[in-house]
Amino acid sequence: MKSDNESYNIGTEMYELMKELFPICRSITGNGVRKTLQIISKQIPLKIHEVPTGKKMFDWETPKEWNIKDAYIKTPSGEKIVDFQKSNLHVVSYSTAINKKISLNELKNHIQTLPNRPDLIPYHTTYYNENWGFCMTHKQFLELKEGEYEVYIDSKLENGSLTYGEFLVTGKSKEEILITCYVCHPSLCNDNLSGVALVTYLAKKIQKLDNYYSIRFLFIPETIGAITWLASNEEKLSRIKYGLVVTCVGTSAKFTYKKSRKGTSVLDKTVIDVLESSGMDSQIVDFFPYGSDERQFCSPGFNLPIGSLTRTIYGKFSEYHTSADNLDFVQPKYLQDTFEKYIMIISKLEECFEENTDIISSKNNQSGKNEESELVFKNLYPKCEPNLGKRGLYDMIGGEKGELNDKMAIFWVLNFSDGENSLSDIAKRSKIKFKDIKTAADRLSKSGLIQQIEKN
Ligand code: ZN
Repeated sequence: MKSDNESYNIGTEMYELMKELFPICRSITGNGVRKTLQIISKQIPLKIHEVPTGKKMFDWETPKEWNIKDAYIKTPSGEKIVDFQKSNLHVVSYSTAINKKISLNELKNHIQTLPNRPDLIPYHTTYYNENWGFCMTHKQFLELKEGEYEVYIDSKLENGSLTYGEFLVTGKSKEEILITCYVCHPSLCNDNLSGVALVTYLAKKIQKLDNYYSIRFLFIPETIGAITWLASNEEKLSRIKYGLVVTCVGTSAKFTYKKSRKGTSVLDKTVIDVLESSGMDSQIVDFFPYGSDERQFCSPGFNLPIGSLTRTIYGKFSEYHTSADNLDFVQPKYLQDTFEKYIMIISKLEECFEENTDIISSKNNQSGKNEESELVFKNLYPKCEPNLGKRGLYDMIGGEKGELNDKMAIFWVLNFSDGENSLSDIAKRSKIKFKDIKTAADRLSKSGLIQQIEKN
């Protein structure tokens, strides 16, 4: 398809773009996203959208805009021990402004660390829950002595807008392939600057080709950006023939393909084909209703044929959401290798004009079901995820806290309560215990998010 030399240069160019974007403090809104999109605009003609705060998007509203200039913690002796200027991971994203002296005990309530990885700074967010906090290494945390600490965050959380970028390469057909990445993580490389760089260079390459499909590239803040885009483009969604969410694509780890919710579309077959014929070790996983933006695109109200091709998937590598996910963790040759796989997939999709619309039936009739397991619910908010935080159904500090299994059970019940799957079907597919699925269904039902239906 192209010479090794050109491929090599693309890997290096993607890496150079990551280097340029790395220091910027991004979040789901604010100047970090704008600056990132401006830099990408030097490579491709992005259309930049600004959606005002408070605009209703299905069950959500666009959030207030967050911007930060500086932040630090000073010890009782005046020494700066945590400095935003050295690493933007030190501040919990969306922290409100603070400038005061507090005791060590009070400070500890606002600090996040990783006790199991004592040399790394974790990445945390507090979207939708106004609070402030710092992240530091656990090693540094253990060295803190009694006394009064000065905590300073110069940030603003106010009405503004949510910013995202979009670029459509028009093909012969109006039918579209959607390629998306998120632009909301601060100085973190594999998750997700690798995706940003890859999508930028894919777009740059594809705009020069003569395509059958139109190909739309999105650079959006994760979750709320996908919700915003879906809510703003509902009338166009029937044009989407295939799609891929691009994330975690810059390391040596083997490829993981997370299938679309449908599971048997031409997209799924094509990606699996490309991976298998490459002879490389790869892993295929069925759709699960958490993770990145595929969970919005594949919410039951849309159920778009969108999968996600990653190297090791988010959450499954030990550097994930820590200061170790830096420029040393990703390499040009792996970016280039992933880039080539994406190009191959798009070329192959171009050859297929008919989609197999078979939907994997998750209906496995078993004997001996009791009545509870036969209960079938319908998600009353099937377009994107409903806002769980405002209903007290979600731990609002982003990160690793909370009862993971309970959270997962909630996502599974919401996504698969489409009037077809019973609770036992959902338990089987999710491999979560039936009693946890039932508890999640009870909580969702009490909150008015799902409703039991009669099924023959
Ligand atoms: Zn992430």
